[in-house]
Amino acid sequence: MSGTAPLKRLYIKTYGCQMNVYDSERMADVLAPLGYGVTDSPEGADLVVLNTCHIREKATEKVYSELGQIKMLKREKQAAGGGTMTIAVAGCVAQAEGEEILRRQPAVDLVVGPQSYHQLPELIARAHRARGERLAADFAADEKFDALTAERRPTGVSAFLTVQEGCDKFCTFCVVPYTRGAEWSRPAEAIEAEARSLAGQGVREVTLLGQNVNAYAGEGGLAGLVRRLARIEGLDRIRYTTSHPRDMDEALIAAHAEVPELMPYLHLPVQSGSDRILKAMNRAHTAESYRRLIEKIRAARPDIAISGDFIVGFPGERDADFEATLQLIRDVGYASAFSFKYSRRPGTPASALPGQVAEEVKDERLTRLLALLEAQQQAFNERQAGRVLPVLFEKPGRHPGQIIGRSPYLQAVHATAPDRLIGQIVPVRIESAARNSLAGVLDLETA
Ligand code: SAM
Ligand code: SF4
Repeated sequence: MSGTAPLKRLYIKTYGCQMNVYDSERMADVLAPLGYGVTDSPEGADLVVLNTCHIREKATEKVYSELGQIKMLKREKQAAGGGTMTIAVAGCVAQAEGEEILRRQPAVDLVVGPQSYHQLPELIARAHRARGERLAADFAADEKFDALTAERRPTGVSAFLTVQEGCDKFCTFCVVPYTRGAEWSRPAEAIEAEARSLAGQGVREVTLLGQNVNAYAGEGGLAGLVRRLARIEGLDRIRYTTSHPRDMDEALIAAHAEVPELMPYLHLPVQSGSDRILKAMNRAHTAESYRRLIEKIRAARPDIAISGDFIVGFPGERDADFEATLQLIRDVGYASAFSFKYSRRPGTPASALPGQVAEEVKDERLTRLLALLEAQQQAFNERQAGRVLPVLFEKPGRHPGQIIGRSPYLQAVHATAPDRLIGQIVPVRIESAARNSLAGVLDLETA
């Protein structure tokens, strides 16, 4: 073959967690040498990948309805003489449903589980030869990462970096231990090499990812990894998500006090404030042990922004249990949070529990929970007004002349400033706060 291959259009739609966002980027990286360039619309694409999420029932249903629409685009492309559109389903729905997807939606060419992305070029070639080939996700996770680390091409100044996968906790409501498998940690050297390569390409912030990131079991644990990465020239900010309260050890808390590169933000899901419900969820912490843990973390890093996950309407949840959750939220004071109605997942222990909560009750509880959490988020943001915060600018804003970045507490910050500041950490005086963002001006005195 001579010259450059014609560019084929790749459309990837990502559902669910940040680990999927990371995986989607890596899929684009493995496919780039085959001539695939990422496009932001599925129309006319040569390859469509849906990187799916299985966590709640709605997330799974969405995939099937999206597939129905993509099938139409595939037909239109063919009818217009535009050639074939290969449709691949990746992620946790692929892992959980496997060949069922091919049965339910015949337009799908390929189903690929989260451990097999490095095989994508080969799988796509095989799918082109024979429709409907399905590869099970039975490859070792380290093999996947070895194959994927080679060609990382970051697109911005902040990047995700997966360090841990899987879960051994078996919360009774959750499918992750079944879809993502057992806890597994990447070797620290491989992570450091990836982080160095990212920093060399202008990345200033990494977010270390894992379903249980603070269960990271590589050399030195997560605290050791954070300290190791903090030494990399040019890498100024480190974050990590998502953590489990039971793996929040002294060394990691100390890192929050001692490592300036570790940002003062912690996503530490509690799920419920009722010990009875926590026990039924198999969470292995109580509301009180969680409160004490937060106190300890705040003693180490007083300004830390705490974020969490909550589930309302877990089977057997009574009004008093829900009130205990509200009380815990009041006691802790969250900077941000994600809240969900309990979704019954076939095969998980909670799906068989008595006392499933009526949908209207879940709705009503979620509304009250959200009102409290949103008020806390607004209050947290308002407390930043008048402060000068270092902001890592990431991209142009929606309005001309405006750029957007993140505060140390992960708040979006808008400022009127030249584009050349994108990629830099600049002091910004915060002037006003909304629930989802802050606005400020460059602080030239401290700059
Ligand atoms: N490992 C993390 C932890 O323990 O907090 C969470 C990972 S999970 C992908 C993200 C969140 O989804 C959970 O914290 C939980 O709040 C929510 N979730 C998981 N299963 C759920 C279910 N069956 N119904 C509703 N929410 C669920
Ligand atoms: Fe799911 Fe619990 Fe594991 Fe988090 S810790 S991924 S909620 S089983």
